[in-house]
Amino acid sequence: MQQPMPATTSGQKDRSMPQRRVSDTYGCLVFSGDVMLKRLPPDVFMNLEKTIHTGSALDPKIANTVAGAMKDWSIENGATHYCHWFQPLTGLTAEKHDAFLSINSDGSAIEKFSGSQLVQGEPDASSFPHGGIRDTYEARGYTAWDATSPAFIHKVGAHATLCIPTVFVSYTGEALDKKTPLLRSIQAVSKQALRLVRIFGDTTTKQIISTLGVEQEYFLIDAELAADRPDLKICGRTLVGAGAPKGQQMEDHYFGAIPERVLSFMADLEGRLFELGIPVKTRHNEVAPGQFEIAPTFENANVAVDHQMLTMTILQETAPKHGFVCLIHEKPFAGVNGSGKHNNWSLSTDTGANLLDPRDDTHSNMQFLTVLCAVIRAIDSHAELLRASIASAANDHRLGANEAPPAIMSIFLGDMLTDIIDQLQSGEAKKTMKGGDMDLGATTLPQIPKHSSDRNRTSPFAFTGNKFEFRAVGSSQAVAWPNTVLNTIIAESIDFMATQLEKRAGKNPTPAKLEAAVKTLLKETIKQHRRVCFDGDGYSKGWHDEAAKRGLPNLRSTPEALAALRPKKVADLFAKYGVLSKRELDARTDVLVEHYIKLLTIEGRTLAWMTRTMILPAALRAQAELADVVAATQGAGVECPATELDLREHVKMADALRSSMLELEKTLTHSEPDTEKHMKFMRDSVVVAMVKLRECSDALERRMPADHWPLPTYADLLFSTL
Ligand code: ADP
Ligand code: MG
Repeated sequence: MQQPMPATTSGQKDRSMPQRRVSDTYGCLVFSGDVMLKRLPPDVFMNLEKTIHTGSALDPKIANTVAGAMKDWSIENGATHYCHWFQPLTGLTAEKHDAFLSINSDGSAIEKFSGSQLVQGEPDASSFPHGGIRDTYEARGYTAWDATSPAFIHKVGAHATLCIPTVFVSYTGEALDKKTPLLRSIQAVSKQALRLVRIFGDTTTKQIISTLGVEQEYFLIDAELAADRPDLKICGRTLVGAGAPKGQQMEDHYFGAIPERVLSFMADLEGRLFELGIPVKTRHNEVAPGQFEIAPTFENANVAVDHQMLTMTILQETAPKHGFVCLIHEKPFAGVNGSGKHNNWSLSTDTGANLLDPRDDTHSNMQFLTVLCAVIRAIDSHAELLRASIASAANDHRLGANEAPPAIMSIFLGDMLTDIIDQLQSGEAKKTMKGGDMDLGATTLPQIPKHSSDRNRTSPFAFTGNKFEFRAVGSSQAVAWPNTVLNTIIAESIDFMATQLEKRAGKNPTPAKLEAAVKTLLKETIKQHRRVCFDGDGYSKGWHDEAAKRGLPNLRSTPEALAALRPKKVADLFAKYGVLSKRELDARTDVLVEHYIKLLTIEGRTLAWMTRTMILPAALRAQAELADVVAATQGAGVECPATELDLREHVKMADALRSSMLELEKTLTHSEPDTEKHMKFMRDSVVVAMVKLRECSDALERRMPADHWPLPTYADLLFSTL
């Protein structure tokens, strides 16, 4: 008999035991193509596959059969309930569970799940943000099955629920969610890009797919410490906190060795994501202490968006099992790196050819260069809209600060593409710059190929080899909306390019005629829109000045950015591509405005409350102690001017804290019927009062006796994963 190996010091099991491979459990909680193939009659399977892969309309006749198979499969996997899983305008996901259990007329019980229950649900629409599309007395709203994103089983503890991804619309059919417009935008960009590839002679592609891979940054904090911070519990970020003596200045955390406790959290997290068919690939320490990142392999944008939402959910569900709280807020801690979400985006044919792959001889790759110029044109023409798509009170802490790309939307192209753009602008592109090899100086080291371009961390929209990386997206954001905007503006721009080429080259042009038309179109486009291209340091003051000279918009805060959703031309753009009607757009803009006001009200109240009930009393206790010392020394006839000075200083600071608190409380009572004005008031008065109060609190924290400070400090929190 084989002797078991002794347990390791960390309590791990016998390493000689055969381990289950990840690939064995990958996707085991997904109603995937394989499961369908096994469980559905061939004709039903083919029918459903057609909808999933070619975007053809769902055949209602197959719903009952699919529902039956889904029910059996999910019950075998422990599910007792099903839910329609959707993405309302809260920016989160929503689910209402219904039991499979049904009671027959004779009182016996049976599990049931019908086609109509699979296809359609009816949650109360008026209880979700709707921006005025519904009144409270008009409660009806519908969820409808999105067969293009696979159903899955969500396990929480011992409970399992079948989740069916759905869209969520009002009784009048208007979108009340983030998925409906995303699906419409995917269709819009596919239609226009298909026109373009046809012009370049592609007769076989049937569909163009938006591809998406989203890198997620997050913090882990010890759960016991986080429990003592009301700001973290309520707002997901610290509202006060003096900087720790050590932050990220040693640059020793990024890509550093992952502590064991964190690694076991990550392994658990990844295990759960793998079971859900989410192809996470990369994990590492991020820049700030306690900050980490997880990234998947890219997928089609609809599935990637659903998987991103699920990743955020599972991150937060898994952390407590390891004694952590996972913070996905954009700025949990002042003075250290915030968290973003790099939105890697591209377009591909249905056979997997990436339209943004420059290939070897890029200068002669007319289709690639046309798509590239369409992207440049889109970002320049719709910069304000793109900026608006990532606007939130939380992201305002990052954009424009010296850590995240600025609020100015610009494109990083890198040396190789910039060189080609230069050539195109002066008439004809004749060569492609090569990276070559790098000699590392020691003969034992390999010669490594060098990319033709370096990277740039400071650009909000960077070309990274064969995709664009929209880096200004916030870490807590639902990525459906920025991708809806991205797809729509690219659809418009590709539409423009295709229309111009059709006009200039005519129907069925000769290659020479097409090439001539492409050359002049690209030259014009580059001339007109290249101001949006910038490869330098986006953090620098110089760029802000230069961008202003170039006439690029710089919408620094959310109130300015959301205003960019109001002009008629924006409503016309969304309407033209069938993504959102004016009413739908106005409704979601209203929701974003309201959300900004509500969120800052909650933060302001939390800070005022913490100050009144925790920080100020602690400051007064410390003050009384200090006063006792002064009185005792004076009573003993000892001169102690330094302690008296301390006391005086402390009294001044506690007074400043109190008056800043009163000022904040006053701003929070302000009411304003005009929400646009209210939003600006929040930015100019409440946020300003919060910053001032925080300064007073942080100054006190730096000098108060540690045992009097009522909150875990930054040093406690940031180094709590070690
Ligand atoms: P880096 O950010 O260091 O360039 P990767 O090249 O690994 O890292 O890519 C980051 C993310 O971009 C990953 O999620 C990856 O799957 C995704 N990605 C790669 N190619 C594409 C593509 N064609 N479309 C969309 N996302 C992509
Ligand atoms: Mg990246």
